Amino acid sequence: MTFGLNKVKRSWAAQLEDGSDHQNVVRMCCAIKPMSAWHLNKTVTASRERCGGQGYLSANRFGEFFGSAHAGMTAEGDNSVLMQKVAKEHLSMFKPHQLSAPEALDLANIDHIAYLLMKRENEQYDLLRNKMKKAVVFTQVFKLFGFFVS
Ligand SMILES: Cc1cc2nc3c(=O)[nH]c(=O)nc-3n(C[C@H](O)[C@H](O)[C@H](O)COP(=O)(O)OP(=O)(O)OC[C@H]3O[C@@H](n4cnc5c(N)ncnc54)[C@H](O)[C@@H]3O)c2cc1C
Repeated sequence: MTFGLNKVKRSWAAQLEDGSDHQNVVRMCCAIKPMSAWHLNKTVTASRERCGGQGYLSANRFGEFFGSAHAGMTAEGDNSVLMQKVAKEHLSMFKPHQLSAPEALDLANIDHIAYLLMKRENEQYDLLRNKMKKAVVFTQVFKLFGFFVS
């Protein structure tokens, strides 16, 4: 998460003057904000639970971080709404990697690790595309219905 956040902050700070990377930077911001806030929420909840009743004491400051997580999940755009934007744009831009599997997978080999990451990206893409298909059908039916009643 920290690697991702630093990457986005650096990209934001060092944007190209001609603005050609601006949409990409905006998309990265829209992805890292929800991921960080959701991560904080999960972390603070698990941490409070592990501390039992002691976790409720204000001296242990879980409440502050719980509040911060919820502020982060909603402020500057609700997390789910931002993630919908990211998912939709990624879906239209992503081109599946053409991969050939290594004969014997060696996790000390950086090319093999890159292969696994790209394979996972392809699989996530398929998963998302199938999930979004249902939403697209719903939108088309809704538009058709809207057309008839107007
Ligand atoms: C701590 C904090 C500080 C803030 N500071 C400021 C500030 O300084 N200035 C300012 O102007 N505003 C500020 N805001 C307001 C903030 O910008 C909005 O709360 C935020 O953009 C979310 O919009 P919303 O409250 O209308 O919620 P919504 O976006 O309407 O979200 C409400 C619920 O509806 C769901 N939802 C919404 N749209 C969809 C959709 N298309 N599909 C599926 N589900 C959907 C969401 O997932 C969520 O569960 C602040 C908010 C917070 C929490």
